[in-house]
Amino acid sequence: MSRLPRLRSSPDPSDPPAPSIATALGFSMSTSMLGHKRKAEDNLDAEALDQPRKLPAIGNSTTARPLATSRSALNRPTTTTGSAAKQLSGPQRLTRPEPPKLSTSAPRRTTRATSAPPKQLGSSTGLIRPPGRVVSGSRVVSGSGLQTKEFRDLQHQVASIESAQLANAEKLAQTMDAERAKVAELEANHRALSLELANAKSLELDKRRELVSASDEIERLRMKHAKEIMGLEMEVKSKAREARELADELRMVKSDLERERDSVSNLKATLSHQSTSHITLNAQINALQAQKAATQMQLDAVMTISSDRTLELETAHQRILDLEQDARESEMVRRKLHNTIQELKGNIRVFCRVRPVLTSDLSPSSSFTSSPTPDDEEKGREADISFPDKRDHKEIIVSSSSSSAMGSERKEIYNFGFDRVFVPESTQAEVFEEISLLAQTCVDGYNVCIFAYGQTGSGKSFTMEGGSTEATIGMIPRAVSQVFKAAGDLKSKGWEYKMDGQFLEIYNETINDLLGKGEFDKKKHEIKHDKSGTRVTDVNVMPLPSPASVTSLLRVANSRRTVAATLMNERSSRSHSVFTLRISGTNTHTGESCEGSLNLVDLAGSERLNSSGAAGDKDRLKETQNINKSLSALGDVIAALGEKGEKGEKHIPYRNSKLTYLLQNSLSGNSKTLMILNLSPLAAHLNESLCSLRFATKVNNTMIGTAKKQIRGSS
Ligand code: ADP
Ligand code: MG
Repeated sequence: MSRLPRLRSSPDPSDPPAPSIATALGFSMSTSMLGHKRKAEDNLDAEALDQPRKLPAIGNSTTARPLATSRSALNRPTTTTGSAAKQLSGPQRLTRPEPPKLSTSAPRRTTRATSAPPKQLGSSTGLIRPPGRVVSGSRVVSGSGLQTKEFRDLQHQVASIESAQLANAEKLAQTMDAERAKVAELEANHRALSLELANAKSLELDKRRELVSASDEIERLRMKHAKEIMGLEMEVKSKAREARELADELRMVKSDLERERDSVSNLKATLSHQSTSHITLNAQINALQAQKAATQMQLDAVMTISSDRTLELETAHQRILDLEQDARESEMVRRKLHNTIQELKGNIRVFCRVRPVLTSDLSPSSSFTSSPTPDDEEKGREADISFPDKRDHKEIIVSSSSSSAMGSERKEIYNFGFDRVFVPESTQAEVFEEISLLAQTCVDGYNVCIFAYGQTGSGKSFTMEGGSTEATIGMIPRAVSQVFKAAGDLKSKGWEYKMDGQFLEIYNETINDLLGKGEFDKKKHEIKHDKSGTRVTDVNVMPLPSPASVTSLLRVANSRRTVAATLMNERSSRSHSVFTLRISGTNTHTGESCEGSLNLVDLAGSERLNSSGAAGDKDRLKETQNINKSLSALGDVIAALGEKGEKGEKHIPYRNSKLTYLLQNSLSGNSKTLMILNLSPLAAHLNESLCSLRFATKVNNTMIGTAKKQIRGSS
C-alpha cells in the first residue's frame, strides 16, 4: 500500500506539455538532451513496471499475473480500463447476495459466471483466505459474524484499491500516450535540427575553403609584390651605376676635349711654320723639275740607242738558238748515220767502261782474291788510262811503262777504239741511254744479247744488276722497264705482249737454275733449239707482269747464288749468269706475231789464272779451264760469225761451250749483240785490262751480217 503514492507521483497528464521543454532547449538540443529524454522514458517504463512487481506485497501470495495485467493494461489502456471497470463492479455485486457462504466455492462460481475478471478475482480471493479455514473450528463458530463483516470490509477495500489501481493504470496510459507524442515530436525536431546542423556545417566548410583560397591569393599577391619591388630596386641600382659611369665618361670626354684643344692650338702653330717652309720647298721643286726635264731628254736619247742594241741582241740570240737547233738536228742526223753505219758494219757492238777507283782499292785487304795481287806501294795506284775522244767517246788509250833489260824505261801506248767508251765518272743512266734502243728492239722481234766481259772486280755485276737505289740500278732492271715501256707504246697500234724471265748460271759447263728450288748442280738441264726458239729443260720461267716484278726475280736469283757461294768460294765470279727476258707479242689488228728475247749475260772473270797457283787446286784448275774454254769459244763463235758474214756459209762452233750453245739463237744472224768490256782503273790490273781490250777489239772487228726482224705472218 505504501507504494501506491509513487504511482500517483508519476508525470501527470496535466503537467506542462513536452513542446515547452523543446522550446526551452531551442536549436541546441544535443545528445545529452536526447539521453535525458530516453531516461525519462525509461523512468516511466520502470515505474510502470515496478508497480505490478511491487503489487504482490499487498497480498501474501503474489504471482506474475499482476505484472501481465499491468503490461496488458499499458498496451491496451482503453480496453483495459473498460474491462477493469467491469471487473470492479463484478465483486461488488457478488459480495452482496451471499456474504455468509463466502467460502472457496463462492468465488469459484463467480469465476465461472464471468470470463476474465473472475480469474483475477479468484487470485485475490486466494489471497484473502476465509478466517474459518485458518483457525480452529471453535473460533470459526464463535466469531463468524464479525469475521464476515471484516471480510467484507476487506473485500471492499480490495475493490476500491483495484479500482484505484485501474484508474491509475488508465492515467498512466494516457500519460504514456502524451509522452510518446512528445517523443515523436522531439524526434521530428531532432531530425530537423540535424538537417539544419549538417547544412550549417557544409556552409561552414564552404566558407572555410573560401577563406583558405583567399589567404592563398593574398600570399601570392604579396610574393608578386615583393618580387616586383626587388626588380625595381635592382633596376634603380643599375640605373644609378649607369649614371655614375656616364658621369665618369663625361669627365673623361671633357678632359680629352681639353687636350684636343691644346693640340689643335699646337698644330695651328706648326701649320703656320710648315706653310712657310712649304713655300721654300716649292721653289726648290721648281728648280729640280727643270733639272729633271734636261736629264729626261738625255735619258731618252740613251734609251733609243739601248733599244737598238736590244733588238740587235735579240736577233743574235735568235740566231744562236737557230744554230743550236741546227746543231741538234745535225747531231741526230749524225747519230742516225752512225747507227746506219753500225748496222751496215754488223750487229755486234762493243762498249768499254772503266770503273772508278774505290775506297776498298786503297785498303790493304783487297777483296779480289783471284786478281793479281799488287805490291803494297802499288795499291790503289791508277793505271795511265786516257780518253782523248771527247766528242764521240770512242777511244781509250792505255799506257804502260816497263823497264828494259838494259835498264832503260820503255813506254808503250795502246790505242783502242770501240763503239762507245765510258769514263769512270759515267753513270748507270748514261750507259743505259746507249743501250736502251738496243733493248727496245727485242719488242720488234729481235734477239738481243748483252755481255759484260772483264776480269773479276772490274764492275760487270755492277753494270748488269747494279745497286738498289734509283741511280745505281743496273742494265737488267732498266732494260726490262724499257721493254715494258716500248710494249706499252705499241699497244695503241694493236700490239699485246707477254713477258717472262729466266735466270740461269753456267758453272763448270753445267746449267743451274737460279730461280729453282732444289739443290744446285743436281738437276740436269738440257738446251733444246727448235723452231719456236731456245728452251732449257726443267727450269723455272717466271712471268713478268710488271717492271717491278723483275726486282723479286733478281732477289730470288741472288739469294740462291749466296747459298751457292758459301759452298764454293767466289762462285759468282767463276760462273756465267744469263738473264733472259722473253717477249712475245701479237697484233690484234693485223694478226701478226713476233717473238724476241733479251739476254743479259754477266760473264765469269776473264783473268788468266796463274798456272802455278791453280796447279795445286784441282777444282780451281777445272774451273779455270772451263772459264777459259767458254770465253774462247765465245770469241771463236763471234769470229766465225764474222767470217760467215764475209765469206758465206761456214761452220759456227756453238757447241764448243754451254754458253755459246745456249745463246746460239741470240748470236746468229738475226741478232744484235753488245759486249760491255769492264775495266779496272788500277795499275796493278793493267795487264789483265790489256788482255780484255785485245779480246774486245777482236769481237768489235767482227761483222755479223745485218740483223733481221723475226716476224711471222698470221698465216
Ligand atoms: P765484277 O762483277 O766484275 O766482279 P763488281 O761489279 O762486283 O765486279 O764490282 C766490284 C766492285 O766495284 C763492287 O763493289 C762494285 O760496287 C764496284 N763498282 C763497279 N763498277 C762501279 C761503278 N761504275 N761505280 C761505282 N762502283 C763500281
Ligand atoms: Mg760479278
